[in-house]
Amino acid sequence: MPESSAQSIDLVVVGGGIAGLWILDAAVRAGLSVVCVEASKLGSGQSVCAQGIIHGGLKYTLKERDLSASAPISAMPSLWTGLASGDPQNGPDLRTAVMSSPCTWLWRTDSLASRLGMLGAKAALQTRPTTVPPAERPPIIREAPGAVLQVGEPVFETRSVLEALARPHVGDSSEGSGNSRLIAVNGPEGIEFTSQGGEVKRVILRGGNAEVTLLPRAVVLAAGAGNEGLLSRLGLDASITQRRPLHMTLLRSSSLPEFHGHCVDGNRTRVTITSGRDTDGRVVWQLGGDLAETGVARESAAQVTFAAAELQAILPALDLSNCSDAAWSTYRIDRAESRTRSGFRPDDAQVVSLHEGRLLVAWPTKWALAPRLAAAVLDALPPELVAHPTPPVDLAGFEPPEIAAYPWENRTWISHHDVRSAAPA
Ligand SMILES: Cc1cc2nc3c(=O)[nH]c(=O)nc-3n(C[C@H](O)[C@H](O)[C@H](O)COP(=O)(O)OP(=O)(O)OC[C@H]3O[C@@H](n4cnc5c(N)ncnc54)[C@H](O)[C@@H]3O)c2cc1C
Repeated sequence: MPESSAQSIDLVVVGGGIAGLWILDAAVRAGLSVVCVEASKLGSGQSVCAQGIIHGGLKYTLKERDLSASAPISAMPSLWTGLASGDPQNGPDLRTAVMSSPCTWLWRTDSLASRLGMLGAKAALQTRPTTVPPAERPPIIREAPGAVLQVGEPVFETRSVLEALARPHVGDSSEGSGNSRLIAVNGPEGIEFTSQGGEVKRVILRGGNAEVTLLPRAVVLAAGAGNEGLLSRLGLDASITQRRPLHMTLLRSSSLPEFHGHCVDGNRTRVTITSGRDTDGRVVWQLGGDLAETGVARESAAQVTFAAAELQAILPALDLSNCSDAAWSTYRIDRAESRTRSGFRPDDAQVVSLHEGRLLVAWPTKWALAPRLAAAVLDALPPELVAHPTPPVDLAGFEPPEIAAYPWENRTWISHHDVRSAAPA
């Protein structure tokens, strides 16, 4: 394609997970011409699998070394709740996003001194947890030993958030698709870069039969685990990234209650439970926390057996023999982040700026921190770009990407009855 038919654009965002979509929205609000390019389905890395908890830092206060990490995240529950109730001053309109629960529950199983009772006194928390008497607890944790806390950390259905974020940026079909700012391309190879020393000079996008050449003033790599491959393709050092693997467990039954909470023993989150629904309306529990971290070393069948025993230990009131259709599954997934020296989670959303902000590499670190990431990306862009935006580009012929399916769709399930018989007596 001759250079003369190439269009100038302020910003190309690569990747349409929670990070890319929030950055897209923030850039549009800042008046920039921008396109977000997705090689597969929206959120098909981590975002659609996230447990959807908008952490306010409580979990981090469990570990003394992590206290400083709770500061940046402490404002997130109220920010997200505001956006969900229609406060577009601070970000995207999330009124159509589904809040599965306004809070999470914390309980413990150990009889030894626990730090749980102290958590309410931690200064870094904006939303103080409240101790709830047995009669007001969910039945499933009514008899839990010691204090049971209700924490103002809401939980969102991840697909509904991605949908709410994407909708304003998908072209209106009555006007043709040329006004879409969110487009699907033909896999990672549907994006072709021309770069010098990692600075992107030209991007060719191919989606279906459509093709466009863009001359970006800046590019953001917000592709989760895909950032590694993108950095390598640009001849840059991919070792600025890290992955932390998880082995998640799923429990599905039409008789399960919807429940969202963490079982905490000592300073560890033994199991984190969140609830969603499958396309047949059955409740699906996602089991994360230490169970998912230590589960990396277990094969799927062993992980299910272990998870079933864990559930029995932390929720003795849960009687799965009453859930005739109870079934288990597991899946593996990596958390993709910027590298830390310790290999632990970075404390905040991370942006690496190259070529004076013309190439940014972005990771939210947590789903909850996407708003902080988007603000950090806008701050890191070259000032002249933000001061003098270019007009929108024509992306006629490109289709918007679909939203990825929940991790519990299209899986193989093992009946709880078979797990019980496989478990050691
Ligand atoms: C199981 C699990 C549970 C979690 N639970 C929580 C939680 O409860 N609360 C919380 O705050 N955080 C949670 N997290 C962390 C959170 O999910 C992530 O921090 C966040 O979703 C990362 O978003 P992302 O947009 O950077 O990456 P991703 O969600 O991985 O999105 C990357 C996108 O880029 C696309 N892509 C990849 N390569 C390319 C390419 N070459 N070109 C174009 N597009 C590309 C992918 O298809 C995908 O759509 C959880 C993580 C996991 C794995």
